[in-house]
Amino acid sequence: MFKNCIALCCAKRPSVAEDMEANGVPVYIDDVIDRLNKLLSEKNDLQIFAAEKIKQLTAELEVSDAGEFKAVERIRNGFARFKKEKYDTNPTLYGELAKGQSPKFLVFACSDSRVCPSHILNFQPGEAFVVRNIANMVPPYDTIKHSGAGAAIEYAVLHLKVENIVVIGHSCCGGIKGLMSIPDDGTTASDFIEQWVKIGLPAKSKVKADCSDLEYSDLCTKCEKEAVNVSLGNLLTYPFVREAALNKKLSLKGAHYDFVNGSFDLWNLNIGFSSSIIY
Ligand SMILES: [Zn+2]
Repeated sequence: MFKNCIALCCAKRPSVAEDMEANGVPVYIDDVIDRLNKLLSEKNDLQIFAAEKIKQLTAELEVSDAGEFKAVERIRNGFARFKKEKYDTNPTLYGELAKGQSPKFLVFACSDSRVCPSHILNFQPGEAFVVRNIANMVPPYDTIKHSGAGAAIEYAVLHLKVENIVVIGHSCCGGIKGLMSIPDDGTTASDFIEQWVKIGLPAKSKVKADCSDLEYSDLCTKCEKEAVNVSLGNLLTYPFVREAALNKKLSLKGAHYDFVNGSFDLWNLNIGFSSSIIY
């Protein structure tokens, strides 16, 4: 199933695959390269142009094959290891999860590959309902825009009845740098990114007003945390979040993970940084 079948890897070259598969035998890229090399060595009377074309095709196949092979192998090996070490050794957990989920947390985290909440907080399967996006933003309630975030919040709060919502910012966040770099006139150069991170504009304004003497990198760090507070405030614009929070059935928490220093800062909504718990 995971072999590098040329029909999958080289869909743009159907004629090669069709010709080679005519006898019903699966054909793989290695086989094609071997055959082309053999053809090159045996057919001395090939025109130079044709030979060059085959060399070029061979090189393209080798490059394509190398990249695809590693990705497929990485995925296959990763799942095999998970299956062997986690899934097969914990039938009770996975048996329960097969019946349903009842996570205690809804987590907003950045899409950044370094900040996976399940990894850094050791969440086990079934513990956290996770939304990841650029700069871990929670947009304000709006049934037209950003409905993906709204749907996740609605489902987590009304159906899963999570008890905690945690918004986790992080160090060196590229999304926050993007927010801080938007010109004052608001012009944008990207199709989506800047428009999305503008959700955090109130944080940028506050940080620039309060900390104008700081260097750019320090301003960004401040904004990483302040943008979390903006998201916590935005959560309260969702009627079902507000109601659950007022009824003490839902707790809203902010956090900042610093992967440069290996620390995690956690605070409750409206309590502020001074009472934060730092690990
Ligand atoms: Zn980020």
